[in-house]
Amino acid sequence: MIGIDVLLPGKVRPLGTKPGRESTPPKKKTPTFLLELPLAVEAGQAARLRAHLEAGRQFYNAVLSAGQRRLRQMRADPAWQAARAIPRTHMQERRAAFTALRERHGFSEYAFHELARELRVSWLADHLDAVLAQTLATRAYRALNRVCVGNARRVRFKSRGRGLSSLENKRNDTGMRFVLETQDKGRQQGFLLWHDDRLPALIDTDDPVVAHGLAHEIKYARLVRRHASSPRAQGADREGERYVVQLALCGVAYHKPKHSAGTDTIGLDLGPASIAIVPREAEARLEALCAELRPDARAIRRLQRRMERQRREANPEHYDEKGRPRKRGKGAPRWKQSRSYQASRRRKAARERRLAAHRKSLHGRLVHQIVRVGNTIITEKLSYEGWQKRYGRSVGLCAPGMLIAHMRRTVASTGGTLHEVPTRSTKLSQYCHGCGKFVHKPLSQRWHQCACGIGPVQRDLYSAFLAAYLDPAADFIPSCAQYVVPWEGAEARLRAAHEQVIQRANEGQVLPRSMGIPRAGARLPQSRSEATQELLFLSSRGKVEAWKRRPEPPAL
Ligand SMILES: [Zn+2]
Repeated sequence: MIGIDVLLPGKVRPLGTKPGRESTPPKKKTPTFLLELPLAVEAGQAARLRAHLEAGRQFYNAVLSAGQRRLRQMRADPAWQAARAIPRTHMQERRAAFTALRERHGFSEYAFHELARELRVSWLADHLDAVLAQTLATRAYRALNRVCVGNARRVRFKSRGRGLSSLENKRNDTGMRFVLETQDKGRQQGFLLWHDDRLPALIDTDDPVVAHGLAHEIKYARLVRRHASSPRAQGADREGERYVVQLALCGVAYHKPKHSAGTDTIGLDLGPASIAIVPREAEARLEALCAELRPDARAIRRLQRRMERQRREANPEHYDEKGRPRKRGKGAPRWKQSRSYQASRRRKAARERRLAAHRKSLHGRLVHQIVRVGNTIITEKLSYEGWQKRYGRSVGLCAPGMLIAHMRRTVASTGGTLHEVPTRSTKLSQYCHGCGKFVHKPLSQRWHQCACGIGPVQRDLYSAFLAAYLDPAADFIPSCAQYVVPWEGAEARLRAAHEQVIQRANEGQVLPRSMGIPRAGARLPQSRSEATQELLFLSSRGKVEAWKRRPEPPAL
């Protein structure tokens, strides 16, 4: 399932940030947070839920297909090219042209609701209430609109095998809804009501998160189906699926007392596999992102290779004598899936789910560590596309974009702000505050050292330092004067942060190469006297190897 914030942009808009581009919001928006409760579903109920979700899937596909036709017609309209030809400087005219086009071809959320009303007939109407049909139509519209405005290339239809994994309402008084009942001894019982089914939710009232959530007004409920690792997993039904209800609640999420927010301002520099954290006052840090995930990723890779072997084994006709896959034509034989292949695929899927959950918890931990120091955060806006091209694997594994999204939510819920500064205007990785010059560094150069006397300092830490002191009043444009005072105190802190990294490397932790630590024995230290000192110091602790890994700043 896609994260809630992707589906509901704007709903969790933090206080103190600019409202979106929409001019007059129809309703006053209130903050929303989610509470997830597992459902105890019996076999009969599960079968009915599956049927409803299948109806939802077919309905979604129908709306998506009809909508896609509308989108194609709209784009084929000569007026579309005419509207595109209007220069962007004539904003109002351009917008009016596109609005007229959308109206003519019925490409708007409202028009999709009309479409949903026409399509919700016969047996579909028995499964889906009118409001659920509307939310599905909205979902289809948003997917298509992303294609329309160029944020996505195509839409995906929901396949029969994967099905629809979630369905939500808009309100909590009709259709699918969640009710709370207080039973004797003051214990609360909650039920998801849908059609004639009453699905009891498992409520742990001792959990402060649950108690906090249930004390708030429910906006709407969402039913979510998740795959468990097997039918024997806890809470899973015959098909190996679990059901949970997500309640969208009015208010702000519970804050555990241990997760208090600090007051510092923090600069972040996020790399594909590393993060530099430089607060204005507290200690600076340079961390590897999600290093704990590497073993999981390796296990998945092994399973992938096994699946590849099993696929070849079962389908020799699809490969030529040299083992290369044959081109697939129209009359090509079908691919066969052996039982062992299917088992491997299930195992890989379970592994991947576990990896995703692990990553989420690591992200959460890091975010809370950062927010505890301060909740004003400045970072350069990421360019995912460029990153994915360059370092596909680390980006896929560490998901830095998800980390930022997580941070944005957490920071907002504590009343802080996350400033994302456009890289094009700041270019922090090229900037030197000593002389104010922008000099491009190649990726291999992990140090900032300038002829004006600044450095050497690890480049990610330096960028994060520059970000920490950017001034919102000056449009986040760096200037030499603003850094003179902070640099005096920061230089030592940045150095200390990098020394910690070296120490961890010495302890055997594998760190991304971007941190500026050459692999053991890669290079010898330049200055002998310094090396000896360090060697003596370390050998007293029995770490003679360490000096070999001493990072060297580049010679000018
Ligand atoms: Zn300089």
